[in-house]
Amino acid sequence: MVIGANITEGSSQRESINPFTCSPWATIPESDKSDVDRAVAAAREAFCTTWAAVPGAERARLMNRLAGAIEDDTRRLSELETTDNGKVIRETRNQVRFAARNLRFFAGYADKLDGRTIPMDRPGTFDFTVRRPHGVAALITAWNSPIALLANKLPPALATGNTVVIKPSEHASVTTCELARLALDVGLPPGVVNVITGGSEVGEWLTRHYDIDKISFTGGSSTGIRVAQNAATRMIPVSLELGGKSPNIIFEDADLEKAVVGAIAGIFGAAGQTCIAGSRLLVHQSIYDDVLQKLSARASAIRLGNPLLEDTEMGPVANSAQFTRILSMIETGVSDGARIVTGGSASNRPGLSGSFVDPTILADVSQDMQLANEEVFGPVLCVLPFEDENDAIRIANATRYGLAAGIWTRDISRALRVTDKLAAGTIWVNTYRATAAQAPFGGVKASGYGRERGYEALAEYTYVQNTMIDYSDEIRDPFSIRV
Ligand code: NAD
Repeated sequence: MVIGANITEGSSQRESINPFTCSPWATIPESDKSDVDRAVAAAREAFCTTWAAVPGAERARLMNRLAGAIEDDTRRLSELETTDNGKVIRETRNQVRFAARNLRFFAGYADKLDGRTIPMDRPGTFDFTVRRPHGVAALITAWNSPIALLANKLPPALATGNTVVIKPSEHASVTTCELARLALDVGLPPGVVNVITGGSEVGEWLTRHYDIDKISFTGGSSTGIRVAQNAATRMIPVSLELGGKSPNIIFEDADLEKAVVGAIAGIFGAAGQTCIAGSRLLVHQSIYDDVLQKLSARASAIRLGNPLLEDTEMGPVANSAQFTRILSMIETGVSDGARIVTGGSASNRPGLSGSFVDPTILADVSQDMQLANEEVFGPVLCVLPFEDENDAIRIANATRYGLAAGIWTRDISRALRVTDKLAAGTIWVNTYRATAAQAPFGGVKASGYGRERGYEALAEYTYVQNTMIDYSDEIRDPFSIRV
């Protein structure tokens, strides 16, 4: 862990399991309550002493240095991430690059956080706004993409002048600890970036701590509700990046080759362990059988294997609890009446030792099934037919989630009509699972609130302070509000 200037192993540790070999490969400290207190105190002290006085241009310089250190260390960091959570190396390498890119993007804002001067009704009054950092921000992330998820939170938090206490998932903490070590190495003042490790108990201590000012959380929706409740007890702002059950809609006029690749990317990229997984594929009934056949051919050819190898397309499921949950949800889907088109079980391909699930496609899924409603967070696609545009919109919105949606059509008017009607924070047209530092990201409904990336993320880590100055000679009536 990194607490202030100290790199510490904590008073107890837990083993981190490599999901490909199913063996322990790293030892992770387990924070106790006093570690949490010390990390928050270090962040508070750094906020009140050094960091608050550091000009934006200097914050930007340090953030760019951290970006450079990450770029120089891309190979090692991506190998650590892949070993820790089983995500294929071609993906983790891009996620590490994205971390550097997002740091540079937000470093660009650090010296441009200006406010407004506001024209007033009353002469002799001058009014202006300033953006202030919240103070100490608690950043909590999930196991599926530790470095990429942190890269959504840390850069805007630092650019706006906050200090942070990070808690990665207990299932994959290694790269977060390494990144905090790099932050110290490049000269970020001690206490600006702190990392504590551990599970839900540590998360509870952190989110209920009396001295944090902001929470940014990425994880499951039920945990998100709990975190929001903790934030409410102290009335501090919280951003929630939660789960999804995103619809990916293929209309009859789509470029089918492109759409099928998009559907595959949407659900089998990262073995489906991604919040934005396009896990409900809605296909126009006239092309349903054709699309199913094309999907099945591509899905069954996906190369499963050692995630550290360049040509592997899908790695293992990241931990055994998730592996068991995925298989049980497939079983429930089949007993509810879904038909397995391909996959449907743990993989028994030769040479695979870890927790692999075969890429699974289920047809004849109806909206009332658990599979169409609950997030699987694994390589499991349900395919639902629709009759027309309105039917597609109805099915797409029939979920408690609202993270993302995909639309495949050659008709731009249709794309915009459907976009107008979909309740989702991100909509992709003729692409899927594409991200950019500039493009705001976040959910609606049970997928959470708040935005990461893009200009919008700055608002999550600042509050607006308004100052009104009376420079007239007027003596005011003390018993009437001045408007
Ligand atoms: P999780 O909710 O179990 O855990 C997320 C984090 O919260 C972990 O660090 C965990 O230790 C911590 N935590 C657990 N209980 C806590 C508590 N009571 N108080 C504070 N912290 C607590 O989620 P997970 O299984 O790690 O991740 C999978 C979920 O994350 C999926 O639902 C997925 O969709 C979601 N996710 C969302 C996004 C997004 O950007 N919207 C991105 C990635 C993952």
